[in-house]
Amino acid sequence: MSAHLKLYNTATRDVADFKPLHEGKVGIYLCGATVQAPPHIGHVRSGVNFDILRRWLTASGYEVTFIRNVTDIDDKILHKAVHEEIPWWAVAQKYERAFTEAYRALNVLPPTYEPRATGHITQMIELMEILIANGSAYAPGNGDVYLDVRQLTYYLTLSRQKLDDLQSAEDADLTYKKDPRDFALWKAAKPGDPSWPTPWGAGRPGWHLECSAMARAYLGESFDIHGGGLDLIFPHHENEIAQSQSAGWRFANIWMHNAWVTASGEKMSKSLGNSLQVQEILKKVRGIELRWYLGSAHYRSMLEFSFEALEEAAVNFRRIEGFLKRATDLLGTTPDGVVSAAFTEAMNEDLAVPTALAVIAEILKSGNTALASDDRAGVKSAAAEIRGALGILGCDPLDEIFATGDHADAQVLDGLISLALEQRAAARSRKDFAAADAIRDQIAALGVVIEDTPQGTRWSIG
Ligand SMILES: [Zn+2]
Repeated sequence: MSAHLKLYNTATRDVADFKPLHEGKVGIYLCGATVQAPPHIGHVRSGVNFDILRRWLTASGYEVTFIRNVTDIDDKILHKAVHEEIPWWAVAQKYERAFTEAYRALNVLPPTYEPRATGHITQMIELMEILIANGSAYAPGNGDVYLDVRQLTYYLTLSRQKLDDLQSAEDADLTYKKDPRDFALWKAAKPGDPSWPTPWGAGRPGWHLECSAMARAYLGESFDIHGGGLDLIFPHHENEIAQSQSAGWRFANIWMHNAWVTASGEKMSKSLGNSLQVQEILKKVRGIELRWYLGSAHYRSMLEFSFEALEEAAVNFRRIEGFLKRATDLLGTTPDGVVSAAFTEAMNEDLAVPTALAVIAEILKSGNTALASDDRAGVKSAAAEIRGALGILGCDPLDEIFATGDHADAQVLDGLISLALEQRAAARSRKDFAAADAIRDQIAALGVVIEDTPQGTRWSIG
């Protein structure tokens, strides 16, 4: 029995007890999207995985500050702007919105703050000033600013590479760089491209610099958890560490990385990407079912995508939903969620979701047995524990976000007509037949057919 949360830290390659830097509080920085195309499921898996972490920390009593940035200036965005013949900022806003909609459809909670890179140029310039002043970075006069990797003592500890083993580009231009492996903090403006003024010339930020500056701005010089996809370890996260630690900041305490969604064993390719766009998949399954599927694998395990596996996950989820519905019918209400000890134990083991799903399957089994024997207490406790678990996984069907479709409309309609029928029955019982008939006529005028039967009043839309 593990009463304490343990997390895997990429930096130490070890699972250890989670200890926040400040008691009761957790700061998380998650690298967000470069908004240059509609999201595919590979993009949103990290959103779902880290949303589960956030919900679990919150449920465990922590006050969580969750930062997920938007990279809204980048080569790919500039290329897209040329291709789509719209301004670069219109590209960024269009796809930022697409990501926001995808996160919403998947019930990924909005971050505490969602900083855009272009809104934090001042903080990036401040960081470069520190790095140039202490000799970690240099501005060779062409408008670029580089980090001097040879003076780093801690470089490449996350990916466990050696600087000498790093391939340096054969064609690296050493006119301005001291070493081909030095990376750009800032890039000099090219004609026609957007740029911001700095003491070293106008230009735009390098991707790595953005995250160091924004993490510092919202979480301070040191914070608990930095997350991102596995493919960000090198160079992005190594370079964030190099910049931040060269500035004298301790930076992230724990590094967490989610694995990819693969298709045919490979990281999702662009060609597959189109059919696996979130908005396309949501034509086949509901948001709650896609969320269930994406969250079902352990965050450090590759998720091999197939439509068969997605459909299978959706069918499994509908079984759980079906139980909750029957339990609600029997009890007259859906019990509030309760997080069971077995579920807690699974989640505390580095978010062992597959084990947690096995726990849910066991509860479902006992819940269905209780239903079959009309054991209301058994049904109630199973429904409460299932709802508690689904809430942590972001898959509670009663969450407002999922309760906005046809199903919810039908529930509201059912509630309203039942209310009117109760009023009619009350009027009749006090022998106010004029009022009862008036209610009946008004309901009929809306096209609702009422039928009085020995089992009670039934209605349908005629
Ligand atoms: Zn980042």
